[in-house]
Amino acid sequence: MESFRYFTVSTVKEACTLLAQYGEDAKVLGGGQSLVNLLKQNLISPKYIINIKDVSDLNYIRFDKTDGLRIGALATHRSLETSSVVREQFPILTEMEHTLASLPVRNWGTVGGNLAHADPASDLAPTLMALGANVTLAGATGERVVSMDDFFIDYFETAIQADELLTEIHIPNAGKGSGCFYKFAQRKTDLAVVSAATYLIVSSKDRNLLKEIRIVMGSVGPTPLRSKNAEDLLKGKPITETLIEEAAGISANEAQPVTDINGSEQFKREIIKVIVKRVVKEALSRGLRVRAKIT
Ligand SMILES: Cc1cc2nc3c(=O)[nH]c(=O)nc-3n(C[C@H](O)[C@H](O)[C@H](O)COP(=O)(O)OP(=O)(O)OC[C@H]3O[C@@H](n4cnc5c(N)ncnc54)[C@H](O)[C@@H]3O)c2cc1C
Repeated sequence: MESFRYFTVSTVKEACTLLAQYGEDAKVLGGGQSLVNLLKQNLISPKYIINIKDVSDLNYIRFDKTDGLRIGALATHRSLETSSVVREQFPILTEMEHTLASLPVRNWGTVGGNLAHADPASDLAPTLMALGANVTLAGATGERVVSMDDFFIDYFETAIQADELLTEIHIPNAGKGSGCFYKFAQRKTDLAVVSAATYLIVSSKDRNLLKEIRIVMGSVGPTPLRSKNAEDLLKGKPITETLIEEAAGISANEAQPVTDINGSEQFKREIIKVIVKRVVKEALSRGLRVRAKIT
């Protein structure tokens, strides 16, 4: 491992000041679960490491009925997994975190680090995209909010500029819908071979109609991919088994998998078909149960 200069900061301002000065040559250190591996393998050799783990202002999970859910970048996967408010309002996040890596990785790894690392096999990224989340990026001159739809640029590349820090994830909807995440992996806590997340809202007038739906596929492209044609097919139409089957076929075509040690391109398209169908059906049945409780 190359040597580097190491800073520990305790405020966002301090971190941003250092990033403004050294950004191009610096790396932010969160829980270190991905960064340390990259350093050890000499895949990256930054001159400066800025440890933000002591920035206590970035470690929170807050829910408000009108504002939705806000998660500080330093909240760990484990804190999301065990949060009672998350389980009540967005059980899809609890479900997803439950199979994200091993317990030690979930204890150390942060949600901000997971998104900034931008591994196309991330479980968190497609789930947050399905939830319509956005992220706040802070720099020395101010903050900006970026939709998750625009956040991922390419393999391991995001909209975060060299002088910016990811500070918060915001899910603006107030938990009125229902979702489902499913990961196909060698073992249930391994990185995804293929994954899919969906979040939908059943129409309040007609239980057979979907008011909104987002379907996002993971590990089948350089970034998480929205399956927009499948969403369009399902939105506003009476939902039947055949329509879901057709939508899943469209998702398989929209996916951009590549052949690798985990399977061929064709195999991954087949799995996408199966799991998109599964998550849509499960989210729908959860949505109908939620509606039955309300009405
Ligand atoms: C054995 C193992 C198994 C795993 N399995 C899974 C899995 O099944 N599913 C899954 O989704 N993930 C998995 N992961 C990835 C894991 O979730 C991430 O490594 C972790 O969440 C990254 O968070 P971190 O805080 O450790 O980030 P770090 O390792 O500290 O940082 C990762 C990257 O993000 C940058 N960064 C960190 N925080 C910020 C910030 N606030 N603002 C800007 N940039 C920042 C760093 O500079 C670095 O480039 C696995 C990792 C390991 C080691």
